[in-house]
Amino acid sequence: MSALDFARTNNLDIFVLGEGANILISDAGFDGLVIKPKLNKLKILDVQKYQENLQSLESKNYLAPEVLVQAGAGVNFGELIDFCLNNNLLGLEEFSGIPGSVGGSVYINIHFFEFLLSQFLVSAEVIERQTGKILTVDNSWFEFGYDQSKLQTHQYYLISATFKLKLADSLTAAFAKGRAHEIRRYRAHRYPNKNTCGSFFRNFRAHEVKLQINQKPMIYAAYYLDKLGFKGSLRIGDAQVSHQHANMLVNLGSASSQNLIDLARQMQQQVYANFEIMLQPECLLIGFKESQLI
Ligand SMILES: Cc1cc2nc3c(=O)[nH]c(=O)nc-3n(C[C@H](O)[C@H](O)[C@H](O)COP(=O)(O)OP(=O)(O)OC[C@H]3O[C@@H](n4cnc5c(N)ncnc54)[C@H](O)[C@@H]3O)c2cc1C
Repeated sequence: MSALDFARTNNLDIFVLGEGANILISDAGFDGLVIKPKLNKLKILDVQKYQENLQSLESKNYLAPEVLVQAGAGVNFGELIDFCLNNNLLGLEEFSGIPGSVGGSVYINIHFFEFLLSQFLVSAEVIERQTGKILTVDNSWFEFGYDQSKLQTHQYYLISATFKLKLADSLTAAFAKGRAHEIRRYRAHRYPNKNTCGSFFRNFRAHEVKLQINQKPMIYAAYYLDKLGFKGSLRIGDAQVSHQHANMLVNLGSASSQNLIDLARQMQQQVYANFEIMLQPECLLIGFKESQLI
């Protein structure tokens, strides 16, 4: 709260940083105050009920009660998943291997295949930028969509989020741990794990594309980029399209942010020239004075 006051008093722009997994910062830096919230509390709400339910479940009295877990915005998402699995709480393991904090993950409503984080979030505490007031809000307040949440108005910052998870017996929890491990392995093989901000462009909305495959609109940005053969080959300076994933750009060593932007612009132009659709960034561009992409 005092950091927000300081920024307001000194008329500074604010950037709230999670783990920096989904951002590209301009070569000129960010002109303002960067706040990295150290909100690292992680707890099961109503522990007594949780323990009673777990005992009943292990003795097979009944099935899958739900449990609430509250996580501070600064908690690493992987740690949250491990905490849940170690307490027999299932659901979030679908997001295993996605880098970032709880704050950054709620901001973009992380997704993996059909799973969206908003399917698990029941309530949250947010701080209002203008007033410093702390509000308790429910899922609908966020107006979640694919890659969307109300945090993107930059008028509110996440303090904590509460997730509703399924309590399981130990055997089921062991299977879920195995699944988390498999997803991490799959991702390590499919995606670059460093010097990248993940998917650079967002997938299309169904109404934005003409191409249909098996009577379904082809919404995946990587599909179009792959068709153009960019994977592992298109490069500007040390900025290159990953050899593992056509929608991920990697810094091979000394790429500037401008190199990455120039590469992304070239990808936009070529996709437009070939498919008449315009890629839009998913990666957040921080500190750039004007829009760098088309
Ligand atoms: C290799 C790789 C793979 C990825 N795979 C996926 C994937 O499969 N699915 C997916 O959805 N994403 C994926 N991503 C994107 C990324 O992991 C998510 O966007 C992540 O949740 C970002 O979290 P962060 O803490 O690093 O946020 P940052 O990158 O630090 O910030 C992102 C945005 O969140 C805002 N923010 C951070 N904390 C708060 C807060 N407390 N309150 C309000 N706003 C806040 C920041 O201001 C910024 O605007 C991937 C990224 C990488 C690098």
